[in-house]
Amino acid sequence: MRPTGKLHLGHLVGALSNWVSLQDEYQCVFGIVDWHALMGEYEDSSRIQENILEMAIDWMACGIDPEKSIIFVQSAVPEHLELHMFFSCFTPLGWLERNPTYKEQLREIKTRDLHTYGFLGYPVLQAADILLYKAQAVPIGEDQLPHIELTREISRKFNHLYKAEVFKDCKAILTKNPRLLGLDGRKMSKSYDNAINLSDPQEVVEKKISSMITDPQRARLTDPGHPEVCNVFSYYQVFAPLKEAEVCSWCTKAKKGCTECKKILSQEIMTRLAPIQEKREKLSQDKKRIVEILQQGSKKARAIAIETIKEVRQKVFGSYEL
Ligand code: SF4
Repeated sequence: MRPTGKLHLGHLVGALSNWVSLQDEYQCVFGIVDWHALMGEYEDSSRIQENILEMAIDWMACGIDPEKSIIFVQSAVPEHLELHMFFSCFTPLGWLERNPTYKEQLREIKTRDLHTYGFLGYPVLQAADILLYKAQAVPIGEDQLPHIELTREISRKFNHLYKAEVFKDCKAILTKNPRLLGLDGRKMSKSYDNAINLSDPQEVVEKKISSMITDPQRARLTDPGHPEVCNVFSYYQVFAPLKEAEVCSWCTKAKKGCTECKKILSQEIMTRLAPIQEKREKLSQDKKRIVEILQQGSKKARAIAIETIKEVRQKVFGSYEL
């Protein structure tokens, strides 16, 4: 995950909840990928380090456990760049230019110039992030599927070129939760300023929810609504699934207005966020400890990475360690 700012509800339902449960099933390696953050924030990198610490705090507050999993910082493991370089030598430009997320970001993000050599190649670095640990599976959202496909293409091409079996295909583990849209109905993202952050206090959550667009056909309180077209309802489906039928009933029978419906939703969201915020607060008081956890995690990650790179170098350059 890129440390580009505060984590939001989209991260919680789209990634973190899934990661937390995967910890009991797999040996997990979670990377805070600061090189990827720098690709977008090269003009002002002053917040990246603070964002790394905040991200580690958010992860742990949500239940990522450094005793069970490796939590590391990408730039502390230089082998990511080395593997990226090996892959860059043979990845055709066409594979990168057709990447739908790349095209979408160039179209949507106007505040930064992303027409750079580094940004075009970010999926190659992602492939290195995954393959360096010989990951068997990667937990992702559906929009990331093309990246996994590209990772497979890169690993197969490496094996083919160097007549090796260094890398195996990795599979995607898709999040079970439906995708949570942003407050304005677009993808939830800090760049679009349409997110509810995990650290937002109650009054901010209420204000943000109250700004959401509801069923456009429900102009008056007495008009029956259509929950299936309302973004507020889709939030209920994620955060209060047991209330779904009740919301449907008060909406379609015009028993409650949108303002009240949104207030109740804010309370449901705060019930989910309160324990996370409490843990967050505690963790934030000892930043030194957070740094230590990241250093230890990066050390463990590097031990795995060094072994993979040894193998890769041998296959590409030969067996002398020059
Ligand atoms: S009552 Fe709730 S679900 Fe129905 S349109 Fe209003 S906000 Fe949406």
